[in-house]
Amino acid sequence: MKFQHFTFNPFGVNCFVLSNEQGDAILIDPSVSNTMEQQTLDKYIKENNLTVRRMLNTHLHLDHVLGNAFVERTYGVKAEAHQEDEFLLDLQEEQSELYGLPFEDPAPALGDYIAEGDTVEVPGVKLHVLHVAGHSPGGVAFYCEKASLQLAPSKSIEVPLLFSGDILFAGSRGRSDLFGGDDHALATGIKNKLLTLPPETIVLPGHGPSTTIEEERKSQF
Ligand SMILES: [Zn+2]
Ligand SMILES: [Zn+2]
Repeated sequence: MKFQHFTFNPFGVNCFVLSNEQGDAILIDPSVSNTMEQQTLDKYIKENNLTVRRMLNTHLHLDHVLGNAFVERTYGVKAEAHQEDEFLLDLQEEQSELYGLPFEDPAPALGDYIAEGDTVEVPGVKLHVLHVAGHSPGGVAFYCEKASLQLAPSKSIEVPLLFSGDILFAGSRGRSDLFGGDDHALATGIKNKLLTLPPETIVLPGHGPSTTIEEERKSQF
């Protein structure tokens, strides 16, 4: 599995492009917010001969869906997210005013729902969906049991990866004062579903630096 990370939009959302050897790609939160960011993403996809197969949103807060319309238009895939966050797509204008984020290219309707226990897969890349409510009602994390990461041309390691969205950050968890937030549910979900993953799991949050499950077992309460 090949793995590329970008940080997009004024809120610094981490976008991930996962791809296999055949060039099939899964995009996680491709939240490009202007032409320059669109070109950055498109250049990577073209230069690596990737075919975008799936577009996943960890949740549907506006900062994570800013690129959905562009990706749907450009690559012909519709976004997939948890049904319990779908109402947030009707609140894009309110969120745009609240956060001062652009509302020029609203995210279109979802193409499909993803739920706890689902897997999202292209050959060689398999993601397990973990639903943890509390930052938003339909927040999900994507867990990849075994990802082979290329550290140098001749050096790769096999590690589990967790794309944790705004549920779990390095040293903290997501805020719970937004639409449908619930801190108790968030803390409980993190403890039961995420901190129980293998300690060596590398956690890649929706904002900010990466961490590990081992580190977060010490810092989460
Ligand atoms: Zn969020
Ligand atoms: Zn966010």
